Amino acid sequence: MDFRFSQREDMLRKAVREFAENELPSRMEAMEETGEFPIDLMKPMAQLGITGVITPTQYDGVGLGYVARTIVLEELGRVCAAMPMAMQVHHMACANLNDFGNEAQKKKYLSRLARGETMGCVAVTDPTGGSDLIGMKTSAEPKGDKYILNGRKCFITNSHTSDFWIVIARTAEGAKGLSAFIVDKGTPGAKVGRKEHKFGLRGANTGELVFDNCEISKETLLGQEGGGLAVAIKTISETGRTGMAAAALGILTAVYEEAGKFASERVLYGKPISTLEAIQFYMAEIYSQLEICRLLCYRASWLKDQGMRCDNEAALAKYYTCEAAANAAKKAVEIHGSYGIMKEYAVQRLLRDAMVTIPAGGTAEIAKVVLGRAALAPFKK
Ligand SMILES: Cc1cc2nc3c(=O)[nH]c(=O)nc-3n(C[C@H](O)[C@H](O)[C@H](O)COP(=O)(O)OP(=O)(O)OC[C@H]3O[C@@H](n4cnc5c(N)ncnc54)[C@H](O)[C@@H]3O)c2cc1C
Repeated sequence: MDFRFSQREDMLRKAVREFAENELPSRMEAMEETGEFPIDLMKPMAQLGITGVITPTQYDGVGLGYVARTIVLEELGRVCAAMPMAMQVHHMACANLNDFGNEAQKKKYLSRLARGETMGCVAVTDPTGGSDLIGMKTSAEPKGDKYILNGRKCFITNSHTSDFWIVIARTAEGAKGLSAFIVDKGTPGAKVGRKEHKFGLRGANTGELVFDNCEISKETLLGQEGGGLAVAIKTISETGRTGMAAAALGILTAVYEEAGKFASERVLYGKPISTLEAIQFYMAEIYSQLEICRLLCYRASWLKDQGMRCDNEAALAKYYTCEAAANAAKKAVEIHGSYGIMKEYAVQRLLRDAMVTIPAGGTAEIAKVVLGRAALAPFKK
C-alpha cells in the first residue's frame, strides 16, 4: 500500500489550486446571482487538462485517470463547488462516449469535450423515473432507420450549456428497452426547457430538455439498442458517484478551513474561541470526517484506475462524503455564531452547496440500497 500521490499528481493539484484561487473568486458572486456557469473558463480548464482529465490522448484528452480527476474536482470544489458539479457531469459524458461510442462518435464528440469546446451532458432523470430508472417515460420509437424522441428530462446538469446531450430513452418495454442516444442541440423537435433555480451549487446549470416528435438517425445510437440501462448505470455508479464524492470532498475541505480560520480569529473572553473545548470538539469532528472522506474518495478512484470493480466503494464515498460535508457545514455555521448565516461568510454557501450534492448522482437512500446489498452479500444463501 502506498498513500502518497505521485509527483505529477502533486503538480496537478498545485496547478488546479492556483487556477481555482486566481480565477474563481471574482466570478462567484455573479454565479450565485444569475445561476450561470462561466462558460469562458472552459478553454483555460482545457489547457490545464481539467476537461479531458480522463479522456485518452488520442481523443485530445490528457488521460490521467480517476485519481487525477478527484484531485481536480476536489481543488475546484474547495473554492467553488458549482465548478466540479458541472465538470463531473462533463466527465460522465466523456466516459459514456469513451466506453460505448464508436470511432466516428468519439472523433466527433469526445474530442470536442476534451478540448473544452462544449460541455458534456447526460440526461437520465425524467419526471416519472428519478431513482426508478426503469420508470422513465421519455421514448425513442423506432421508425425505419430513424427514432422519434418524445418526452421531457429534468434536473439535467449542463442542459443549457452543452451543444449535444446524451439522452437515455425507452425504445421498448422493460429494463432491456432503454437505449442511449447523442442528440445535437438544434435538432428539430429538441429544445431546452426550464432552467432550475437551486438553493446551492447555483453556478452549475441545471435544467430541462424537451423532445417533441424529434427525429434522430440510427447513427445517434450510443452503444446497442436496448443497452441504455447499462450505459446509465455504469456512468452513474462509477464516474458519477466518484465525481460527486470529489465535489463534496472539496466542500468539506473548505468547511474545515473556514471553520478553523474563524475559530482562531474570533476572540471571546479575551481568547480565541479555538481555546474552548466545545469548539475543539467540533473541529475534531470536522477534521475526522475530512480525513475519512479523503481515504474513501481516493480509494474508489484508485480502484477505477486499476480497472477493478468500484461501484460499492463509489456509492460509499458518495453517500458518506456528501452527508459529512452537509453535517460539517452545519457545525461550521454554528462555530461562526450569527456571522455564519450572513452572506459575507462562505460557510452559509458551503451548507447550501453540500445539501445539493446529496440527491445529485443518486440519493442517500439509493446509495444505502447499494451498500445494503454489498453488506449482506457474504450471507446470501
Ligand atoms: C444538482 C443536481 C444535478 C443533477 N444532475 C443530473 C444530470 O446531469 N442527469 C440526470 O439524469 N439527473 C440529474 N439529477 C437528478 C438526480 O439524479 C435525481 O434527482 C435523483 O436520482 C433522485 O431522483 P428524484 O429527484 O426523482 O427523487 P425520487 O426518486 O422521486 O426520490 C424521492 C425520495 O424517495 C427515496 N427513494 C426512492 N427510491 C427509493 C428506494 N428504492 N428505497 C428507499 N428510498 C427511495 C429517495 O431517496 C428520495 O428520498 C441531478 C439532481 C441534482 C439535485
